[in-house]
Amino acid sequence: MKVAIRDDDTSYFTTPESLDRVYRDIWDRVPVCLAVVPFAIGYEQPGIPPAHWHSGESFALHRNPELVAFLRELIAARRVTIALHGYTHQDYPDGYEFQAAPDLPHRVQHGRSYLESLLECRISLFVPPHNALSKRGLAAVAASGLDILGSFLSFRPSMRPWEWRAARNWWRIQRYRRATGRTRRDPLVYPHALGYASHAEFGCHSLVPGTTVETLTRHFEEAQRAGGNFCLATHYWEIDATLEQVMRAFLDFAARQPRVRFVPAEELFQE
Ligand SMILES: [Zn+2]
Repeated sequence: MKVAIRDDDTSYFTTPESLDRVYRDIWDRVPVCLAVVPFAIGYEQPGIPPAHWHSGESFALHRNPELVAFLRELIAARRVTIALHGYTHQDYPDGYEFQAAPDLPHRVQHGRSYLESLLECRISLFVPPHNALSKRGLAAVAASGLDILGSFLSFRPSMRPWEWRAARNWWRIQRYRRATGRTRRDPLVYPHALGYASHAEFGCHSLVPGTTVETLTRHFEEAQRAGGNFCLATHYWEIDATLEQVMRAFLDFAARQPRVRFVPAEELFQE
């Protein structure tokens, strides 16, 4: 069983200390997939200085050279891998970035190539800002060939062009729903990557204020029984002493399970 960690929202506004505070020894045990915003525009979030919540200014990652150097070191040491987390991560009056912004194909292509050359790495994963994708957003990411790491049930038939893989995935999810005793309305994270024509999707389990070790271990055991994999998704800026304790207790629990391997999130897509 593969277990991975994804951490969202690293951007120009992030300090090396704020990442090191959370992952200082964890990323030696578990590589952390950092979902990075290449040209961040501020919004109301504790990790961003209030002066930039409404400034509308776009901050390219290279304007924070200390962070860039730190990330390059972490990548070289295989402590982190990099995913693309939107382009500006800005919110629009009628939706989140990958629901409402113009030029989504350009944002994916340029965001990816910019981060790959700045950080000297390869990127194969996309994490939607706020885990939100419109049909147009999904089409832009799928066309780029990037796989999608989300925190949602990554299947809504209305979101996708009809093709045989969509039908197959729908049946796989219905089977899992029945096997785990869920009704149509119960939330569900399917524990395998779902392949489509040019990309695949995998859902993560959120670690947010209020998440308990019991919830995480219960979901882990469910994925384990299904022969699946598990990815924990969180935000460094939200991790306080309580959440840090939950994360560490969960990782210790996972490490004690037979046949568990901590992997970079990219490996969740290699069946
Ligand atoms: Zn985000």
